[in-house]
Amino acid sequence: QPITTDMATLTKEVKKFATDKKLEIETLKVREEYRREFLGNVSHELKTPLFTVQGYISTLLDGAMSDKTLRKKYLERAEKGVERLIYIVKDLDMITKLETGDLNLEYSIFDIVELVKNVFDLLEMRANKKNITLTFDTKYAEPIYVHADQEKIQQVVTNLVMNSIKYGKEGGTTEVSIENLVKNKIIVRITDNGEGIQKQHIPRLFERFFRVDKSGARSEGGSGLGLAIVKHIIEGHKEKIYVESQYGVGSEFSFTLEKQK
Ligand code: ADP
Repeated sequence: QPITTDMATLTKEVKKFATDKKLEIETLKVREEYRREFLGNVSHELKTPLFTVQGYISTLLDGAMSDKTLRKKYLERAEKGVERLIYIVKDLDMITKLETGDLNLEYSIFDIVELVKNVFDLLEMRANKKNITLTFDTKYAEPIYVHADQEKIQQVVTNLVMNSIKYGKEGGTTEVSIENLVKNKIIVRITDNGEGIQKQHIPRLFERFFRVDKSGARSEGGSGLGLAIVKHIIEGHKEKIYVESQYGVGSEFSFTLEKQK
């Protein structure tokens, strides 16, 4: 074999090696940036409830403890702060698993009607506090069997109904409905008549830590991860999620599921 061919091959290989390395470095840089941003967001999210809890404890130690009513009030608020921390840590755990592709879907066949009713039972107290009515059309007397990961779909419905309560208005309504789509698909819709979302925010809604109200000062604040988790779970099922919203009027989140085969 003539040496020139070898040189040409060699050059080609060296070039390919360099390109590969460059790509690898780029990927690592992106990952590093992502990691840095993620950690920044995490500590930011944890700060608010931590400072709140610290504040109540300090006030108690500074003398509020001797007042029976104040003591109860501040301890309850501190407990709320701790609860919020627990929610955030749970969501973080979930999003980390989802983003590292550790989805581990456990498919089974279950009744989505019953699942929605369960979620309503679990969130009824929260809804009552805001006088929000949870409605699910009585036409869903018959079971509708779907093929999916039951626990994860329960999390999806919980997050969406919870949001409709959090961002719903006093005395409002949240309605869940289920419809047949083409062939073997159904679509589950969660509709509220709450504050709605401005158009410009819609494209970023499913990003982790994205919030319309950046201050995080609102009492209802969660982790900013709820919708990111929802999207991962639905897309992990190879299904679709949609949002439609009109500012000041309300929002509708919907997702598809596969009917029992
Ligand atoms: P959070 O913990 O802040 O609720 P999510 O990821 O669940 O995080 O939601 C992201 C943001 O999307 C919320 O902070 C809120 O601004 C907006 N949002 C979500 N659901 C609704 C809804 N039903 N109505 C109005 N705004 C909503």
